[in-house]
Amino acid sequence: MRIHTVSGKATLDFKDQEAVACLTSSLLFRDFQLRVHLPPGRLIPTLPLRLNYLLWIEDLISLLPVEYHENVCGVDIGTGASCIYPLIGSKKFGWKFLATEIDAENFEYARKQVQDNYLEDYIKVIKVNGVESLRNIVGNQSFTFTMCNPPFYAEDNEKQKNNRPSPRHDYGGQEMEVAVEGGEVSFVKKIVEESKFLRDQILIFTTMLGHKVSVKPVKRLCEAAGASVCTTEFCQGRTMRWGVAWTFRQIPFEKCLAVKREKPKPPMTWVVPQIRFKEKAYTVKNIDAATVNILDSLKMMIEPIRSTKYSTMYIVKANENTWVHQRRRRREEKRQKIGQQIEISKQVSVEANNYCEETDTIKVSAESNICEVMDTETGFCDSSSPAESSNFQRKRYLELETVDELDSKRIKGDDSFNYSDELELEPTHLVQFKLSVQKTRCDIVLSVTWIDGTGGIDAMNQVLVYLKRELTKNSNKQ
Ligand code: SAH
Repeated sequence: MRIHTVSGKATLDFKDQEAVACLTSSLLFRDFQLRVHLPPGRLIPTLPLRLNYLLWIEDLISLLPVEYHENVCGVDIGTGASCIYPLIGSKKFGWKFLATEIDAENFEYARKQVQDNYLEDYIKVIKVNGVESLRNIVGNQSFTFTMCNPPFYAEDNEKQKNNRPSPRHDYGGQEMEVAVEGGEVSFVKKIVEESKFLRDQILIFTTMLGHKVSVKPVKRLCEAAGASVCTTEFCQGRTMRWGVAWTFRQIPFEKCLAVKREKPKPPMTWVVPQIRFKEKAYTVKNIDAATVNILDSLKMMIEPIRSTKYSTMYIVKANENTWVHQRRRRREEKRQKIGQQIEISKQVSVEANNYCEETDTIKVSAESNICEVMDTETGFCDSSSPAESSNFQRKRYLELETVDELDSKRIKGDDSFNYSDELELEPTHLVQFKLSVQKTRCDIVLSVTWIDGTGGIDAMNQVLVYLKRELTKNSNKQ
């Protein structure tokens, strides 16, 4: 087992079962003071994924009335040789477990793990035969939840049938640990059917699934049984697993929103046409300045992320739509202004009790405003120049950094920006996207990458259309 590369970096061969087993045992000991022997040839659990499943169950339990937060007991269906869920569940959360296992050898190993960790008061491992129903196993006991990491594959072994490249890891496992007749859906189907009879004894039923395609059929089975369902995704590095929970009680599952890993959206790019910049130098600096001006006029929040001679980047955010029907909006504003002035003039005139003067005033102010409206029809950022519109907070340009400095920052992993932090802080904006102006070999490219927002990607696309139009119009005028 090699743990160091020639450069001295710690590494692990995830195809080496012994190495993976050693890692899991070490982590279980380091983080939970659990002494776990993972026998060779048996399924080797990886810790982060198992912990994620338990943490999700903890979240689900938190949705129950407080009286259920104490004395939590769970059933682990198919506990495996490691008995990993009950071991962590009891050590970390103080939960009690009934752990079932069909395989005689796994059952013995699991029992030994419990004994080795002095957790007999918390975990009861029982040998089942696979024919007996969950109802029989549970008897008249009550449980807070059930959990299960079912054998993922059908018995004819999809694992080999799938023309997939060989996995980057090998968690071992005997055939009966990883495969079951009909695959995981048919395994879980039995639990769902049983759950109907256990609705008064067990509050929450859950299962993990190894294939995304299994999620829908399992969800449908639960719904057909009359249960409320919620799902989640467990993402651990390159490994994805899915969680399904169902209940026959009134539990606000909607509070445990389905977590979906969004595919990163590809950027929308636009090559700024050189021809439009004949009067101004076709440089990143000029295009960047014009872009910022337009965004300013739209009262968007612009946070600079980086700025070099060759590229600039910002996070742009808007809480309201200021780019659609801009002209109409301006016209409306003008009209309102005129209306207000007319009102004021009327009042003044009435107060002065001079009818003739009043009409004159109206005329003058109306005319001057109509002129302004006409102007804005052709103009690009009319009255709302950056200076006037700065009724919002915005950090200005960063100090210019050299490309070298930026690269060294990037190498150190310091990108000075963390999407997830942003998301947590302000989740209610209309649109948030990354905008960059970048020099390529012959052109300058403006690109936008959607981050989030209630307006969806469409909102960002509308801003891009607006930018395109205004940028080229603006450049022509200059
Ligand atoms: N929970 C462990 C093991 C999962 S592998 C982990 O997450 O690492 C699935 C386990 O279920 C295997 O140990 C297999 O022997 C067991 N099993 C298969 N069918 C079963 C059944 N009907 N009842 C109980 N255990 C079963």
